[in-house]
Formats: sequence, structure tokens, C-alpha cells
Amino acid sequence: MLVYQGTKASPGLVMGPVRRLHHSGPGLERVVQTPGREQALLNAAVVLAKDELRQLEEAAEGTDKDIFLFQRVMLDDPGLNREIAAYIAAGAGAAPAVERAAEIYAGRIEAGDDEYIRQRAMDVRDACRRVVNILDGRPRTPLRLETPSILISEFLYPSDIVAIGRGMLLGVACAEGSEQSHASIIARTMGIPAVVQLGGAFLEQNCAGGGVLDADNGCLILQPDEAARKDAQRRIVGASILKKRLAALGAGPCRTKDGTHVALLASCSGPEDVELAMQAGAEGVGLLRSEFSIMAGRVPSEEEQYFFYLSCLQAAGGKPVTVRTFDIGADKSVPGLTEDSPNPALGMRGLRMSLAHPQMFEEQLCALLRAGTRGPLRVSIPMVSTPEDWLQAMEHVEKARRALRRRGVVFNEELEFGCMVETPSAALLAPDILAAGCRFLVIGTNDLIQYTYAADRLDSRFSEFFSGQSPAVHRLVGMALDAAKAAGAPVCICGVHAGSPNQVVRYARQGVRCFATEAASLLQVKARLLEEDLTLPADP
Ligand code: PEP
Ligand code: MG
Repeated sequence: MLVYQGTKASPGLVMGPVRRLHHSGPGLERVVQTPGREQALLNAAVVLAKDELRQLEEAAEGTDKDIFLFQRVMLDDPGLNREIAAYIAAGAGAAPAVERAAEIYAGRIEAGDDEYIRQRAMDVRDACRRVVNILDGRPRTPLRLETPSILISEFLYPSDIVAIGRGMLLGVACAEGSEQSHASIIARTMGIPAVVQLGGAFLEQNCAGGGVLDADNGCLILQPDEAARKDAQRRIVGASILKKRLAALGAGPCRTKDGTHVALLASCSGPEDVELAMQAGAEGVGLLRSEFSIMAGRVPSEEEQYFFYLSCLQAAGGKPVTVRTFDIGADKSVPGLTEDSPNPALGMRGLRMSLAHPQMFEEQLCALLRAGTRGPLRVSIPMVSTPEDWLQAMEHVEKARRALRRRGVVFNEELEFGCMVETPSAALLAPDILAAGCRFLVIGTNDLIQYTYAADRLDSRFSEFFSGQSPAVHRLVGMALDAAKAAGAPVCICGVHAGSPNQVVRYARQGVRCFATEAASLLQVKARLLEEDLTLPADP
């Protein structure tokens, strides 16, 4: 039995056959032709590659679609294309020209400081590899699995996972890779267990004896012995019983033992996750992170956004949806919009970014005001820190209303606007922000913890602040709750604390009756609330 330790990239435990994925295969040895002919071959290959990426985009789920949209946009990137054209003009064949340009381009991206952007180098390589494989006549679906298997490789491209699909992929184990890579993100959204950073040695081993991928503990066992197999079987059965028990909770109302109704809403980023959350029993969407619709680098038009919000309302099936206006900046960088900043989390982010791009902001507000006639929609504004921030945002809402009236377009005059409480300042000044007209508060605990403790949410060395007790945050939330109660404004808590059953119970005892969490945590939170009697004193 061989045990390898890596890092969990997507949770779960699976056992089954193990198959090795090799990324490069023999290509077509082709004579290089004239630069004009090579450029023409390249253009045709790019058209085909974009078509394949469009199909992968259709097959992907939720925000995973954006990954393939990004790759498609990448293939049109003028800088990359100039680089490829220069190699072809110098006499290189189209395939080596793409390979060389992709390496240089990806290398430049990898040299940056931002981890999220660095991870996009993999997307550049993935998109360019597709073009090269077309030019070289190689198959683009890297592996056909006949039975559901654990896939092992040096690394995985996002398209590897989507191309093989959920049914055949039990889990993935990679020698390299990172938790933030798009392949890992896709594995998480598709519910495929994944372990990265296992080191290369396991790839040399005989896989005939199958394997156990214990992603929960970041480990891969090859040639498992009888005891390891039995242990895995026992845990897999236990996990599936728990999953079924939790799924059965989804349909019923969320009432604590003393009969208090607590609304469990979802945190989502698009219609697909809204649908999933509704299936898990969410009573609506408390946070729709609209910025994920533009992370691929193109801001959709007002019309496209309008239909995007309608799709979200439709997926929610008549339940309320709170859309947050774009929270761009910090780790959510958008090519062409975000700039280098010495300290991006404290720089141009959220409302500040929207105020700096008034046309983009007003187009989004117009789309939301229009969508507000089609269902129970309300709008929250991110990173409001002061009443002045709020009033500036409302000036743009007023401008958007005037523009729609001028255009004679129907919109919801009564659409409600509220704000996120994500900074200590917003919690301290909540009475003033509410007095300025803010109708509801959505407390974002991820950022509230980050800014209260000066603990970077992207730096795993400080994860204790996010999983720990957070007394300072509780005190700030208490202030915001008091202000909201005095103003008669509803409050919803989202972010990391809304996914923690213990924290939710704590806030419920403080009087909070609404939480927005990821669909994956919703049932665990619900199971805990159903067991709780809020009239009894809390356990010490
Ligand atoms: C939060 O800060 O808690 C939140 C929900 O917003 P985001 O995680 O998108 O910053
Ligand atoms: Mg936030």
C-alpha cells in the first residue's frame, strides 16, 4: 500500500480504478509552409478551437462557464496574436509559434503578484494547447474512460474535467496544482473530490490495484490493502447516509424547536447556482454576487444584464432575490477595469470602483431597475463605509431612473436599495447610513472579519480569524443590529459565519432571523437550527 499526502482542493472520499492522463501525444510531423499559409492555417484552427470552447462553456455549470469564455476571449487577445504572428513571419510553423507565444504570455502572467491572475496562466496554456492540438492533428479529448475512475496527472486543465464529465470522473489527483486554480474550482462546483500538490512520485507507480482518494484529508492511497478498503467503504456509506438525511431536511420549513422561523437564503453568482440552492430548500437568494458575470473581462450590456437578472429571478421561482451591484477589485480583478494597487483590498473596490466607472454603474442600475418589475428583486451596494458613500450611490440610482424615464422604459419606481456591512465603519455608522435612506442591511462577515482584524482573507496563515470566535465582529454586528431594529430595517448575515452552524445559532440568539449561505452548507445549518431551542440558555 502506498500513501501520498497532498492538499485538499475539493472535498470527498472515493475508491475505484485509477487512470493516468498524459497531456502530450504524438503530433503530425508537418512541413512548414509560407508565413501566409501558416497564418491561414492558424486562423482556421482558432475558429475551430473557439467553437470547441463554446461547446465546453455550454457543458460547464454556473460560473465555470466563465472559464471557457475567458479562454475564448484569450484566443482573440491582440497582444497574444501579435506575438504569434511575429514568430510565423520569422519562419516558424503555426503550432510552434503558438506554443512559444503561449509560454511567454503565460510566463508574464505568472510573474505577477496576484494569485488569482497567476492562476489564469493555466487558462492561456489550456486555450493555446487546444489550438496546437488542432494544428498537429491530435485528439482534443485527452482520455476516454470506460468506467468511473480516479484520474491522476501532473496537473489538470479546466477543460480536462469538463470534457470527461461528472459521470465518469470519481476524483482527481495531481502532482502539482493549487486550490485556487480553475481546475480546482470546477472540481468543487461539480462535486468531484480533488487533491493537488501530491509530488510526482505517485505517477511512477503501478495503478492496477486501484486507489482510495481521501480528499477530505488531502491524501491518495494506491494499491490499498484490505483494511484501507474496508475503512473507505465504511466512510463512503456513512457520508451517503448523512447526505440523504440532510437532503430530506431541504423541503421542510426552517423552524427552531421553539417554533422560531429563521429564513435560510442562498449566496449565489448566477441562475445555475440559484437553481441548485432552490433544490436544497433555500427560501430565496440573499446575496447574488453580480460581479462574477463579468470576471471573464467583458462587462455585459444593459440588455444582457437585464436578461441575466431575469434568469436569476426565474431560477428562484418567485422567491426573493437580492442582487449586489458589482464588487470588483481586491482579489476579484477584471482585465481592463482593475489596476495595480499597492494594497488592493483597501483600494478601488466595490462601490468605489462603480463610482469611478459611472457609465458601467448606471447601466447596471438601469438593468436592475427594469428587472425589478419582473419579480421580487432588491439591490444591495457593496463596500459602503459612510453615509456619504450611500448618498453618492443613490445619486447614480436617481440618474439611472431619470435616464429610464427619458427613454420611456418601464421600471420599478419602488425598488428597494440596501447596503452591505463589510467594514467596521459601516457597522459603527449604521444608524447614519440607515437615516440616509438605506432600507436593509446585508452583513458580509468575510470582509467584516478581514477589515476588523486586519487579517487578509486570502492568506491562509490567518484562517483562524475566520474559523474562530470573532468577538470583535460580534460586537460590531450587535451595533448594526441595534441600528437596524431602531430603523425597522431587515438584516441578513452572509459570508463565512452564515455557513457555520455554531455562528448561525449564536446570531439567531442575538435576534437575527435571516442568513444567506452557499447551497453546500445550507442543509448543515438547517439541521443545527432545527435542533436548537432559542428560549433556553446557550450551552456554556
Ligand atoms: C462578505 O464579505 O462576507 C461577502 C459575502 O462578500 P464577498 O465574499 O463577495 O466579499
Ligand atoms: Mg464582501
